[in-house]
Amino acid sequence: MRMPSRSITKTFFFWIGIGFISFIFLKLVLTNKNPAAGLAYSEFQKLVDNNDVLSVKIYLEQDSAKVYALLRGTQKYVETTIPSAELPDLTRRLRDGRANINISEVRSGNWTLNVLMAAPLILLIGFCLYLARRVQSSARRVQAAGRATSRTGIGYDLHRLEEGRKLIVGGIELPFDKGPVGHSDGDVLAHALCDALLGAAGLGDIGTHFPDTDAKWKGANSMLFLEHAKKLLDDKHFAIEHVDAVVITEKPKLGPHFPKMREALAKALGVSAEKIHLKAKTNEGVDAIGRGEAIAAHVIATLISR
Ligand code: MG
Repeated sequence: MRMPSRSITKTFFFWIGIGFISFIFLKLVLTNKNPAAGLAYSEFQKLVDNNDVLSVKIYLEQDSAKVYALLRGTQKYVETTIPSAELPDLTRRLRDGRANINISEVRSGNWTLNVLMAAPLILLIGFCLYLARRVQSSARRVQAAGRATSRTGIGYDLHRLEEGRKLIVGGIELPFDKGPVGHSDGDVLAHALCDALLGAAGLGDIGTHFPDTDAKWKGANSMLFLEHAKKLLDDKHFAIEHVDAVVITEKPKLGPHFPKMREALAKALGVSAEKIHLKAKTNEGVDAIGRGEAIAAHVIATLISR
């Protein structure tokens, strides 16, 4: 199975970190097992003369030099301090004895060494912080998902139909000789939808926000109600998950107009038309709707809290 590149990177840094920690641990253990023995310079000179020194590391200081030497065939270290003036003679004698010599400036050498030694540690710390952030953000997502709830609201509306009025349903004007009696444009589907949305969010009903006693709403386009309801939902961090509606009327046939209605409603609510499902029913000639005297709509809306 192919491992994603991010996983490879994380695995790489993880093992780099583990390797570095192991190296430091091993070094500490070995150092403790074989601590360098301090010697006077005169004693160290005897070791050099006896060709007992395999290799040396010399760190230059202001007027002196620190010498760390590995003794031939023993794996033991000794250390000593020599005056700077003695250094040329010492190195010559060490070379004569075929010892490896490594000389470095203490300050700059240490800084370089420190940076090189610290690089894996910095990478490891960065990786751990990255992992911690990922774990933290995952926990937040899980927490947020746990808090996310869906809520459902129901809406119903009915308008009487009278001759000579525009029939507007779902924001679309339909060719018909009758239209709803109402304070606004009488869009029965928009009104029921508005109530369903407000109910799901616990924000009252359409009459609370757009009272029919307010002249401002006389003849108003009901899409304005939906747009306002959407803003109220946004303020309370609700998103519209799904809308299902039934419009009941004997005439005219609504089905052919549903695509345009869905588009108009979706536009007013700022959602995709796929979230809005419309159905049409007749009342089989029964009661006022059946006699063509009224139009009604039932809507159920589901919201998700964000
Ligand atoms: Mg109404």
